[in-house]
Amino acid sequence: MTVGLVIVSHSAQLAAGVAELAGQMTQGATPIAAAGGGADDILGTSADKILAAIQSVDGPDGVLVLLDLGSAILAAEMVLEMLDIEQQHRVMLSFAPLVEGAVAAAIEASLGRTLAEVKQAAEKTANVAQLKLLKPLSATQEEPVEAAPPPSPSLQPGFLEEQLTLTNPSGLHARPASLFVQTAGRFRAQLEVTGRGRQAEATSIIGVLSLGIRNGDAITLRASGEEAEAALKALRELVHANFYETAPEVAVAEQTHPQETSVQEALSVPTPLPASQEVQNVWQGVPTSPGVATGPALLYTSSSPPLSEVERLAISTEQVVSEQERLRSALSTTASELHVLTTSLEKSIGQRDAAIFEAQALMLQDPALLEGVLHLIEAEHIDAASALAFVGEQEATTLEALDSPLLAARAVDVRDAISRALQHLREQLFVKQNLSALKQPVILLAEDLTPSDTAQLRPETVLGICTTQGGPTAHAAILARALGIPAIAGLNQSVMQLIHSGDEMGLDADNGLLYYRPSAEVRTQLVQRLARQQQQRTALKKAAQQERAEVYINGRRIYLLANIGSEAEAEAARQWGAEGVGLLRTEFLFATVSTLPGEVEQRNMYAQVFRAFKGPDSASNRGPVVVRTLDAGADKPMPALNAVIGMSTEANPQLGLRGIRISLAHQALLEDQVRALLLAAAETEIELHIMFPMITTVEELIMARGIVDRVYEQLQQRQITLPSYLAHVPVGIMVEVPAAALMAPELAEISDFFSIGSNDLLQYTVACDRTNAAVTHLYNPMQPAVLRLIAQVAEAGRRAGKPVAVCGETAGNPLLAPVLVGLGVDELSMTPTALPKIRAALDRRSAQELSDLAQKVLHMKTVAEVEQACNEF
Ligand code: PEP
Ligand code: MG
Repeated sequence: MTVGLVIVSHSAQLAAGVAELAGQMTQGATPIAAAGGGADDILGTSADKILAAIQSVDGPDGVLVLLDLGSAILAAEMVLEMLDIEQQHRVMLSFAPLVEGAVAAAIEASLGRTLAEVKQAAEKTANVAQLKLLKPLSATQEEPVEAAPPPSPSLQPGFLEEQLTLTNPSGLHARPASLFVQTAGRFRAQLEVTGRGRQAEATSIIGVLSLGIRNGDAITLRASGEEAEAALKALRELVHANFYETAPEVAVAEQTHPQETSVQEALSVPTPLPASQEVQNVWQGVPTSPGVATGPALLYTSSSPPLSEVERLAISTEQVVSEQERLRSALSTTASELHVLTTSLEKSIGQRDAAIFEAQALMLQDPALLEGVLHLIEAEHIDAASALAFVGEQEATTLEALDSPLLAARAVDVRDAISRALQHLREQLFVKQNLSALKQPVILLAEDLTPSDTAQLRPETVLGICTTQGGPTAHAAILARALGIPAIAGLNQSVMQLIHSGDEMGLDADNGLLYYRPSAEVRTQLVQRLARQQQQRTALKKAAQQERAEVYINGRRIYLLANIGSEAEAEAARQWGAEGVGLLRTEFLFATVSTLPGEVEQRNMYAQVFRAFKGPDSASNRGPVVVRTLDAGADKPMPALNAVIGMSTEANPQLGLRGIRISLAHQALLEDQVRALLLAAAETEIELHIMFPMITTVEELIMARGIVDRVYEQLQQRQITLPSYLAHVPVGIMVEVPAAALMAPELAEISDFFSIGSNDLLQYTVACDRTNAAVTHLYNPMQPAVLRLIAQVAEAGRRAGKPVAVCGETAGNPLLAPVLVGLGVDELSMTPTALPKIRAALDRRSAQELSDLAQKVLHMKTVAEVEQACNEF
């Protein structure tokens, strides 16, 4: 196998010279033809010459055409079009550096490599020569030498020069290298650094790292420009200050990591919490689902393919500028994210280890990287993602090729930084593993979980859930409680950096604690508590199944219902003794599907859930099932919906097209859903109630009710006989927007019932994102403002004779449930496992007691006061 080469240059002499040089390297083993100069041998390029050159070296293994300047591409592309289809497929163009690329390509071709391999070898040289990251002195020079190579022409005449010896323990390694580059970048000066026989721009992090400077090495700094002197002074001071490294710190680090390590390895030992917390290797989060667990960690993050496998997407000439713009923006966004991460990690893992991320940010801001990728996009007409992946991989490979374990480890950092930036360029490259296919039980660690992630969770394989985002009413937490999986949220970001999949963890979700490699003592305690909790759970469940004790407060019946989102939860609701379903979150049923189910599929889904709730002796009446129509949007993204309503990016999704607003904007969706619900209810003889989410105005409710009536009439016209009770299905609303609470008297006139969605009502009342861990201090269901709104809704319902439920998480809170009933709420709907404790919290309470408590709370000013009153009660 021999690939042929064509050297295209604007100069005939240059093309011939390069062809001669490359030919000598392989002693004629590779066919090489020169195509230099334009017609009549003036400077330029000639399509005729290029065509002739290709034909002269063409063979079954193909031809690589190397070009010197950008404008040569026009002539070369013209020639490609003149070739027959078969030949077109075996001729490739390359913008590798002409001399180095031709030599590398000739050698590879002579070794029998394929056309793609030859091209890659040629282009690999771009990293070294074209991107000017490294300037090797000579091909034979492998051993470090002390002498500095000559300055590059980029320095102005009369440059300043200084020699320094590095005495800091880790040389010019990640953190010192970052400081070095950052310092150099502050001055208006051209700066070069030389050491170990190599030379690099002092502002290029990859270049500086690639020098491989170690403790005791001498470096030469050369500077020219306006602030050359000041730059040298600053760098000198930095070197003399040992880059602010302290010897003992590094000595410890070197003991821990005798070989230089990658980002992940370097950080594999978590830093204890500050001494004030007096616990080692423990993270504190917010408890969101009670229980304990021990087991191996699973980091649930997106992973991308290796950089070398990122597929090249062709772009047109018109797209070049916009792709280059996308690249700039992705690099700067990722660098900013890394700066933020560094700052947050500095507090938890210390400055030294956090600096690795600062170094990654600098890698992405490296001017040489930007230049290289911009060039590739233009030269090869490929998209920003593949160009970035290519250049990033080249840089990493170059680092690996230098004989230093220190630098090989930095290659991991380069790949990691580039992968982060790729997320902003081609999101589809990043895939998460399928949680429903887990084989071994794990403790899941994630930044956040979407409803479609949570829909895949199985308690058999997910022993615990720990997230850095979220809070008690985030959907991941709601589902975790429903499934009885212990969970905590709001953990410090550092967990995602410090813990690896497979690390042994202990989770005490009752107290919000996550243990990394728990001690034998902690482990034993957790295991014992787990056994006790499992026993208690089994006993409670058994009791709940045996007697479904009804709750009366001085003769007033209070209904205890369940919130569900799947067939399994419907079954749990029955097993935990729910007197009905107070909330079926239908969007959870569609969370994992890629296309929105049609009427027939939906009907089957609902019927399955209804049957699961009724249980085997389906003759018995288990109470109503309140089905909430689709509540997608904001914190409940639904990929399947995008195909129907189109994808749009909203600046404020929580205030955007969500809940009933989607159903009214796309009424066919609601019609399908209502039709499927009526048919499934008829089929299973369930007592169906229909409820609309996010109702904000009277007009919305009138419109939505109109759709239900219309669907019923259409079914009648289709000669479908429905049981008569379905002609008057109770239709109600979720009260979860303050406007709806304030308009409750008017809404009560046209609504058959209210169900207060306290999760969203709280979010919108205190203007605080329920999934944002940074504001959990505000997101407290004991906020007096929310309790007052609940009181108003309960009062409006009472006056209109309409039942009022609460189906937000507050309903399952044993401290607040008595307050809610005291405020006039008739039904509490909650995660099935909470039913026994709420039943116990209301047991033997008098109407007077509850009313007194509620009135007291309504006059309180702060969360702390409410909390105290509830605790005392
Ligand atoms: C609520 O907002 O309180 C509610 C029950 O709905 P969801 O949690 O599904 O938004
Ligand atoms: Mg809600």
